[in-house]
Amino acid sequence: MKSTLLAKVILNYILFLSIGFIILCTFTQHSLNAYTENREAQRLYREATQVAGNYARNYFNSELSLQDFQTQMESLGQYLSAEIWIVDNQGDILLDSSDASIGKNAANANFTTLDGFDTSDFGNSYYMTGKFYHSFPEKMLSVYSPVTSNYRVKSYVMIHKPVSVIAQNSNGMMNIIFYTVGLIALSALFFLILFLLDIYRPIRLLTATAKSYASGDFEPRTGISRNDEVGYLAKTMDYMATELNTLEDDQRKFISNVSHDFRSPLTSIKGYVEAMMDGTIPPEMQEKYFNIILFETERLAKLTQGILDLNQFGHRGMMLDLSDFDINRMIKTTILTFEGTCSQKGLSFDLVLTGQELFVHADMSKIQQVLYNLIDNATKFSHPNNSIKIETSMKNEKALISVKDYGIGIPADSIKKIWERFYKTDLSRGRDKRGTGLGLAIVREIIQAHKEHINVISTEGVGTEFLFTLPLAQKEVQS
Ligand code: ATP
Ligand code: MG
Repeated sequence: MKSTLLAKVILNYILFLSIGFIILCTFTQHSLNAYTENREAQRLYREATQVAGNYARNYFNSELSLQDFQTQMESLGQYLSAEIWIVDNQGDILLDSSDASIGKNAANANFTTLDGFDTSDFGNSYYMTGKFYHSFPEKMLSVYSPVTSNYRVKSYVMIHKPVSVIAQNSNGMMNIIFYTVGLIALSALFFLILFLLDIYRPIRLLTATAKSYASGDFEPRTGISRNDEVGYLAKTMDYMATELNTLEDDQRKFISNVSHDFRSPLTSIKGYVEAMMDGTIPPEMQEKYFNIILFETERLAKLTQGILDLNQFGHRGMMLDLSDFDINRMIKTTILTFEGTCSQKGLSFDLVLTGQELFVHADMSKIQQVLYNLIDNATKFSHPNNSIKIETSMKNEKALISVKDYGIGIPADSIKKIWERFYKTDLSRGRDKRGTGLGLAIVREIIQAHKEHINVISTEGVGTEFLFTLPLAQKEVQS
């Protein structure tokens, strides 16, 4: 991880530098050369038109002697680091600022003529680059300006400057650009290193912590507290570790609860069976203990079924077998199961059902299980000689079912925990030895699988009401 991330960043940086360098050497250099050449051409052209308009015209109007003209052009040529020519229409050089002996005049028969001289060679431009009719050994920038007198072109002023001299200017500028870019690249490197150090250390820490999690140790925390993406990632990881830790704790608690709930009935069964076998319990007393053994095995069977149900819901998600059925009718049939218990305790059912029928769209057998668990709890935890009120109604296009008892109630600090597996309030423990503490966990899973809600309202010593919603069958919605 370390080497690849660093290597990638460095590689990208080198790549970026190389591309930048290539762009500088090609595009920038070329553009700068073209720019300086163009600027120099403009400057020389201004000079050429000046010469054409003043000195040359004066010379042709015989207001300036050839000698003076030559001297003026010599000093201007030196000042411009260029050669100034006056060339006539035939291509004969009348004056050369660098050499007085070249010019065509009465005293000089060896004047130089430009072979094939034609100003149309300049095209639309006032300047050109090249050896100018093979007159120079190196590439020159040549500008021209016509000299007119009496509306006729008498000759041309030409100024030639070696391109190599002009290039020196742009080279100097290029050097400045190179230094500047070099300094920028260095400071970029400096900031890159700072950034890497700032980002890199926490990432290494995060990786190490993630490794511990992967090996099953959820204790270490990143300890990174920053207000950026890394900080957010660290916080998320810390949160995830806490959650995983709780999950592991929950699992451990679950297993210890299961073991405990299995062990106590098994121990008592084993104890009674042994006592019967070795004669400690005489045969005439055995019936009583057989009943206890039956009670314990029933509890074990119930416990096993509960765990199996929850496990099935939890792992594969719950497969619902949805259909339309009358919840009012289901309530009426379910309470029949509790008739025996109720009459023993003097309990009665108070049914407040909406209409004759109330059709819901849900999994029939699972909702039966929900009703059974809720009514079972209500009967178990009701004070004797009270009523249990079961109500159905329609609310917000849902069926609302309520099971309300007047019994021991649930202490406020236990209200949230009753949905946990194996949880039983201290109040209920003495009253219901058969309970596994799995009933409400199963109820909640079922209601959630229907994407519906279940709620509880309870006051300790007064009573408890469980309320849950179910989707109405299509025909109820339409009617
Ligand atoms: P099981 O449902 O397996 O018989 P259980 O009834 O103890 O066991 P749950 O139905 O999950 O388990 O209920 C969990 C606990 O919530 C109960 O043990 C009890 O302490 C409390 N509780 C549930 N319903 C009521 C109620 N109507 N009145 C008072 N306490 C209740
Ligand atoms: Mg229960």
